[in-house]
Amino acid sequence: MKPPRPNRLRDTWAGTTRPDRVGERLRVAGWVHRRRDHGGLIFIDLRDRTGLLQLVFRPEEAPEAHAAAEALRPEHVISAGGELVRRAEGTINPNLPTGEVELNVAAVEQLADAETPPFAVDDDAAVDEVLRLRYRYLDLRREHMREAFELRHRVVQAIHRQLDERGFLELETPMLTRSTPEGARDFLVPSRMQPGDWYALPQSPQLFKQLFMIAGFERYYQVVRCFRDEDLRADRQPEFTQLDMELSFVDEEDVIELCDELLRELLAAGGVELELPLDRITYDEAMLRYGTDRPDRRPGMEIADLGAAFASSEFRVFAGALGGGGVVRGFRVPAGTGELPRRRLDELTEQARGLGAKGLVWAVVEEDGGWRSPVAKFLSEDEMSAAARALEAGPGDTLLIVADAAPVAARVLGELRLAVAPPPIGHDLLWVVDFPMFEWNDDERRWDALHHPFTAPVAPGVGLDTTAADLDSDPGAWRSRAYDVVMDGLEIGGGSIRINRPEVQRKVFDALGLPAEEAEARFGFLLDALRYGAPPHGGIAFGLDRLCALLAGRDSIREVIAFPKTASGADPLTGAPAPVDARQLRELGVRAAGGAPATPSP
Ligand code: ASP
Repeated sequence: MKPPRPNRLRDTWAGTTRPDRVGERLRVAGWVHRRRDHGGLIFIDLRDRTGLLQLVFRPEEAPEAHAAAEALRPEHVISAGGELVRRAEGTINPNLPTGEVELNVAAVEQLADAETPPFAVDDDAAVDEVLRLRYRYLDLRREHMREAFELRHRVVQAIHRQLDERGFLELETPMLTRSTPEGARDFLVPSRMQPGDWYALPQSPQLFKQLFMIAGFERYYQVVRCFRDEDLRADRQPEFTQLDMELSFVDEEDVIELCDELLRELLAAGGVELELPLDRITYDEAMLRYGTDRPDRRPGMEIADLGAAFASSEFRVFAGALGGGGVVRGFRVPAGTGELPRRRLDELTEQARGLGAKGLVWAVVEEDGGWRSPVAKFLSEDEMSAAARALEAGPGDTLLIVADAAPVAARVLGELRLAVAPPPIGHDLLWVVDFPMFEWNDDERRWDALHHPFTAPVAPGVGLDTTAADLDSDPGAWRSRAYDVVMDGLEIGGGSIRINRPEVQRKVFDALGLPAEEAEARFGFLLDALRYGAPPHGGIAFGLDRLCALLAGRDSIREVIAFPKTASGADPLTGAPAPVDARQLRELGVRAAGGAPATPSP
C-alpha cells in the first residue's frame, strides 16, 4: 500500500509504522480505539484501516495535546502529529505489528465526536446480530470484519487477474429483465411506462451469458448480483454475488480444468493451498457413499450398501426393505470418535424418524465380532460379520443402519453422518458430475430440471452429441452435462454444458411439461437466437459469498456481505423493506392488496 498523499490530516498509515521510521515526525489520523490514563501519561491506540498505533501524550512535553487527550473517548476521530519513538524495553507489544514503536504526540486535533457505541468496537465479543446490522458501520470497524472484507477483495482481485489473463471479457447484463428459471421466486419491479407489466430481477445472468456466446464473445465473466426471493433458511440471502462465467467450443473437461486452476488461485488469495486436479465423483456415487450430492469427505465414515450382507436375512425390517425395492445401508462410527451413549443413540433414532426413516438400527461391534444391539437376536453371525466387513468395522465401532427406500436411506444416513462427525479439519473440495437431468416433483406430478432447463441432456447410451431424436426415451433416464463443485459439504459452484440446438431445447421444455406457447412467450428470444448459429458452449457460476465465508472461516455468508439482510429479509440499518406512499403506487399502476395498505400521501 502506497503512503497516503500527505495533507493536513495525515501523512502516514498508522498500522504501517515500523522502527525504520523512528526519529521522523509523522501525522496519523483515525479513531480512538482505546484510551488508558496512567495518571499523568495518556495512551491512545489510534486505529485506521491499516491497524493500530500507540499514541503517547506527555503532560510536561505537550500540555495542550495532553489536555485535549483527556477529553477523548473511544471512537472519537482525531489527527495526531509527533515524533515516532522506540518503545521502552519491557513495553514492547509483540502482538501488534506496530508494537515496537509509539508516537510521541506534539499536537492533536479532534475531528469528530462520537456517541458511546452500542457495543464495543475494540473487541470481537459476541453481539446480538440485529444490533450489529442496525449499526453495521460500527460493526464493520471491528478488526475481524475488516479482515473478512480485505480477504473478499483479494479474492475478487484474483478473479479479475486470472480471467483477464485467460482472455475473458467482463461484460454486464441487465438487472431489469425477464424471469430466468433458476428454481426460485422472482423479485418483481413494476413498469411505470407500461402499466401492468413487470420486470424481474435476474436470478442469474444465465440466458444473457448464453446470448454472449451466440454473439461470438467466446469467454465471458462477471462478478454479478443475483436475486432470489426464497425463504432465508439455510444461510441464504435475497441478493447474493456470483462469479458467473461462460465459454464457447468447450466440453466439461475444459470448464473443469479451468476452474481447478482458478480455484487454486482464489483459495491461495485466502491462504489455502489446493492440490490439483480436484477429485471428481459421480452423482450416484455421492448419493451412495455420502447420502448427498454435496459430500463433505473430511469425516470419513462412508456409507456402504449392506444389501448383499442381508440378502437372505429373516429380520423383518431388512427383508421388508430389500423385498420392497428398497435398500439397507449404513456407516461405521469408529471407536474413539466421541461417545455414542444410549441416550445419544436414542436421539439419533429420533432424528432419523424426523427425516422420514421408519427407524434406525444401531449396533456396537464387540470383541468377539458379535453385536450389542437391540436387533442382534434377529441376525445370524454370518450376516453380522458380512455387514461388519462391508463397513470395514472392528471391535468398539458403532454401526448405524437404515433400511428404507434408497432416497430416504441416503438422506437420513447423510445427515446422521454429519451429526456424529467430529469438528472437521482443513478443507475438502471435489467435483460432482454426471447428474440426472430431471428429478420427479411428486407434489406437482411433473419433472423438474435438476440444474436448469438450458443444460444439455444426454440420452441413455448416446453420449455428448445427443440429438432431439435421441430424446424420445423416458426423461427419468436422461443424464445431464452438469457439474458442481463442492467445498466442505457446501455447493460453491455449479454449471453445465448448454443446449445449442433449438430442437433439443424444445424437447427439454416438452419434458418439463412447458406448453409450446408458454415456452415461446417466455424463452422465444433464446429459441430464436439458437436458430442463428449457436456454438457449443458451457459455463459455471460460483457463489462468491459462500466461497469467501469458507475461506474466512465464518459460518454465515452474512459475515462477508457488507450490508446483509436478516432471516426475514429485513435490513435493520435502512429499515428496508418499507411502505411506499400511495402516489408512488398510483404512478406505477399498482394497488396494494388487502391487508397491507399503502401509506397515504401526505
Ligand atoms: N446459472 C446457473 C446458476 O446460477 C449457473 C450456471 O449454469 O452457469 O446456478
